[in-house]
Amino acid sequence: MKITDIKLGMLRVPLKTPFKTALRSVDAIEDIIVLIETDSGHVGYGEVPQTAVITGDTHGSIVFAIDRIIKPRLLGMDVADLNGIVRSIQASMEHNTSPKAGVEIAVYDLWAQLYNAPLYKMLGGGDPVIDTNITISVDYIDKMVGDSISAVERGFETLKIKVGKDMGLDIERVKAIHAAVDGRALLRLDANQGWTPKEAVYAMNKLEDAGVALELLEQPVKGSDVAGLKYVSDRVLTPVMADESAFGVIDVIELLQMRAADIINIKLMKCGGISNAIRIADISASYGIECMIGCMLESSISVAAGAHLGVAKRSTITKADLDGPSLSAYDPVDGNVTFNEAEISIGDAPGLGIRAIRGLEMIEVG
Ligand code: MG
Repeated sequence: MKITDIKLGMLRVPLKTPFKTALRSVDAIEDIIVLIETDSGHVGYGEVPQTAVITGDTHGSIVFAIDRIIKPRLLGMDVADLNGIVRSIQASMEHNTSPKAGVEIAVYDLWAQLYNAPLYKMLGGGDPVIDTNITISVDYIDKMVGDSISAVERGFETLKIKVGKDMGLDIERVKAIHAAVDGRALLRLDANQGWTPKEAVYAMNKLEDAGVALELLEQPVKGSDVAGLKYVSDRVLTPVMADESAFGVIDVIELLQMRAADIINIKLMKCGGISNAIRIADISASYGIECMIGCMLESSISVAAGAHLGVAKRSTITKADLDGPSLSAYDPVDGNVTFNEAEISIGDAPGLGIRAIRGLEMIEVG
């Protein structure tokens, strides 16, 4: 099975409700789709979101990176040589973690198709069902409470609440949601780098003293402020999870050695794909630290890859934030992963099992 071409498309999926964090507001998923063609007729699929304020990758940079930099290195390579292909992708350029991840997803899809097994089995196997939380966007208190109650009624048992815009109001937001869903849902808090270290400790002390039990606090401070993250971790009882502080393997090793975080949020788009995500999960396991498998605003191709990885590494990846498909108005992809609100389940079709992508528009490159 040799790679003969790499084509790109654009997939637009409207969201049910705008996605709002401390950094941005988005009302549709608009992702680059990667199609890797082979001489056997098999096609591998990948997906890349643009997340300029987090990874720095934009639609233009993603298309250029894949078409001009990565693709020429991969043409003619044999899919059975997975390690060689992955090395070529990772060595093709510095940074650009999202396009690297999108191409890797398509290559792993093909590699599993080559051996006629769903991807999670090729990654080690496991029970092919996973539970995800859903994101509650930052908004007026009443809107956030209403969104939280309706998420619980849709069957979500874990809510990820976005805060980080205004600390005083953030504390009130969390207290109100906690009062509305207490006993029916676990709460995760994601401050998206919006607080200073001292603000984070103050807010968590207020919440902890008020009896608001949180499963975790995600990335309270700037991603580059690892010392600040450790400052918070050392002073609050709630487990602290690193997201924007934990991009690649080396970042994670530094966090683990400093004991700056209690949990690591792995995202394929931050670490450059499945190969590095496996490394991060395995290294974290060696330190006895649990991980979450997360996603950017992605639809059900790259999120499916995350689900396969999460299943295969469940002993370390104990939490999932794979809510892109649940936030979308519809699922445009027919694949082997079924997204049914909180429950994600994987079927037996080889690779990612993708048969159709509705509304895919091919991109003319060059
Ligand atoms: Mg986050």
